[in-house]
Amino acid sequence: MSNNVKEFMKKYNIRLTKSLGQNFLIDNNIVRKIVDSAQISEGDMVIEVGAGIGNMTSEIASRAGKVIAIEIDRRLIGALTENIKPFNNVQIINNDILKLDIKRDVLSAENTGSGGFVPENIKVVANLPYYITTPIIMKFLEEAEGINMLVLMVQKEVADRMVAKPGGKDYGVLSVAVQYYSTPERIFDVPPGCFVPPPDVHSTVIRLRINKEPPVKVDDKEMFFKVVKAAFGQRRKTLLNALSNSGYFNLDKEKIKQILNNLGISENLRGEALSITQFALLSNSFTREDC
Ligand code: SAH
Repeated sequence: MSNNVKEFMKKYNIRLTKSLGQNFLIDNNIVRKIVDSAQISEGDMVIEVGAGIGNMTSEIASRAGKVIAIEIDRRLIGALTENIKPFNNVQIINNDILKLDIKRDVLSAENTGSGGFVPENIKVVANLPYYITTPIIMKFLEEAEGINMLVLMVQKEVADRMVAKPGGKDYGVLSVAVQYYSTPERIFDVPPGCFVPPPDVHSTVIRLRINKEPPVKVDDKEMFFKVVKAAFGQRRKTLLNALSNSGYFNLDKEKIKQILNNLGISENLRGEALSITQFALLSNSFTREDC
């Protein structure tokens, strides 16, 4: 169907809305390659975010045990429903992904249990609406216990940030969060011409395999992310200044200096130089009373 996206849109008189990040994939090969990257089998339940008119949904449905297709735009639901008619394993949720509780609304017993389907793996596959890429990714990383893998089309620059290592301009809160929860891998790049309408940016398909255990030992996850956010909050400042100016901690500058010294971390470094391990050591040295 995906090579007929344009015809289908004509038939259903679909006008795309730029503000909803509606850039539909028209290249069948790309759709197949994305779905291939998720290594889907019949034991899998797949959540698709932003199903659109279902060009990728049908490809997923032909391989997975169960598909939950989430789409915000009510105008697309008719076309989506027709497109997935050949499959009896797709459930459509017409709602805003950011308003859904993944556990309660998406992975609920109703979705998984009623058909007697108990998934071996839960995967997220999506050509994401780019205007809310980070909130969607963070939502799945933070909320969705039981999810094994995410295969996502994102803006190329966002993929760069997700895989970035310490030291460069791409390394930031998103890099640390993604690499704390998962092991990210770039799969391939997709030029604007593969979509209608073509987006203004280049795209990359990225795969995040969710870590069974975080790569570092963190005593208090909230504290860890507070330290990370503080360190990157003022990127041009030294680590010491960024931490003490952040307003997140009740510690005076001297005390923070001492903590950094004890860990052998130079106070003159910038936050972007710290590895995830160093962020973990640092946050483990702060206590709740310090906040
Ligand atoms: N899967 C289709 C469409 C991708 S475009 C394809 O690959 O061709 C992104 C889709 O996300 C659009 O259909 C858009 O309507 C939908 N979308 C945008 N914001 C959303 C939100 N908050 N929740 C769910 N879907 C959303």
